[in-house]
Amino acid sequence: MMTKETMNVNNNTLKIGADQLGLLERLCNATAVSGDEHEVRQIVIEEVKPFADEVKVDKLGNVLVTKLGKGEHRVRVMLAAHMDEIGLMIVKKHDDDLFEFVCVGGIDERQLPGKAVLVGREHLPGVIGAKPIHQTTAEERKDKIKLSSMRIDLGEDIGDKVKPGDRATFATRFEVLGYSVRAKALDDRFGVATLIELLKHTPENIDLLAAFTVQEEVGLRGARVTAYAFNPDMAIALDSTPAYDLPHWDDEDENVRYNTRLDAGPAIYVMDRATIADRRLVHWLTETAEDERIPYQIRQPGGGGTDAGVIHRTRSGIPSISVSVPARYAHTAASIARLDDWANTLSLLYRALGRVSPELLAGDR
Ligand SMILES: [Zn+2]
Repeated sequence: MMTKETMNVNNNTLKIGADQLGLLERLCNATAVSGDEHEVRQIVIEEVKPFADEVKVDKLGNVLVTKLGKGEHRVRVMLAAHMDEIGLMIVKKHDDDLFEFVCVGGIDERQLPGKAVLVGREHLPGVIGAKPIHQTTAEERKDKIKLSSMRIDLGEDIGDKVKPGDRATFATRFEVLGYSVRAKALDDRFGVATLIELLKHTPENIDLLAAFTVQEEVGLRGARVTAYAFNPDMAIALDSTPAYDLPHWDDEDENVRYNTRLDAGPAIYVMDRATIADRRLVHWLTETAEDERIPYQIRQPGGGGTDAGVIHRTRSGIPSISVSVPARYAHTAASIARLDDWANTLSLLYRALGRVSPELLAGDR
C-alpha cells in the first residue's frame, strides 16, 4: 500500500496511482535484455498508440513516437528512455543440460551465484549454480568465482528450447513495499513508464518526440540513430541512477561516494562520464522544481552515462540533459526505489515541459 503522503504529492499535477503502478509492474516483469527488447516494445506500442500522432519501429528496434502540439513556434523536444536491461546471454549448451553464459551490460559477477533466473522468451525458470558452503574451503571463499566456471541450471532436459544467443534475466517479481518498490530493471523501466505517462499527458506547447531506445546498456547504441531520425531542438534522457546512500562501508569514516539518495527527488544531471549537461537546461529544470516546490537533487558527478551521451553529439549537436529516478542496488537482481521519487520526477518533467518556449534555447549556453 502507498502512504497517504504518496498519494497527495503534488496535487494539481500528474500522479502515481493504481494505473501507473500497474504499468510499471508490467514493464518490470517483462524481460528485455539488450538486443532482445521485444516484450517491452510490445507494451510500449500498445500503451502509446491511442495517444500518438505517429508510432514507428526503426531497423534496430527503437520505437519512435511523435505527438504534435498546437500553435506556432513549437520546440521539438526529444525524450529518450531505454527499453533494455542488463542480463545474461546463453553461449553454450553442455551435455548435462547446463548452460554457459556471458553478461550483457555492466554486471558485477560476484552478484551472480545462487540467483534465480528466467531463460529465453518462454521465461524458463533456472538458477545460476553455486557451490554450497559445505564444499568450499576457507581459501576458496576469499576468491571470486569466475564467470567461465558458472552455469545456468534449468533442472530438466528442455531439448532445444534454449539456444545460444537466448537471453536470461533475474527472476525477481515486482513488489510494492509500503512507500517503495522492489523490482529488477527499474533501470530503465522507470524512464519507459515516465515517458508513456508524458505521452498521455503532453503539454501542447511542444512537439514531443519520444524515443524508446534499444541497447543502451551495451553502449547507448539505439539512441544514436533515434536522435538522428528525430533531429530535435533539445533532448532529455530519462533514466534511473544508482542511489548509494547506505551507511559507510568497511574503513570509510563517512559515506562520501553517494551520487544520489533516496527520498531526495529526481536527480538532475550536471555531468556524467558521457555528457556535460546544457547549462540552460539545468537552470530550466532546477528553476521549475523550485517554483513548483518539487524536491530535486543534483546527481553527483562520476561514472555512468545515459542516452544523452550520444544524443548530444548527433548531427550538428543537440542541447541535452538527463533526469533520473534514484534506485538502490542498480544492475543487480533487485533494486529498491521510492514511489515519491518517481512521482516527483513525473511532476517535474510535466511542469518543465509546459514551460518550454523558443526563448529557452535562445540564450547563451
Ligand atoms: Zn539506465
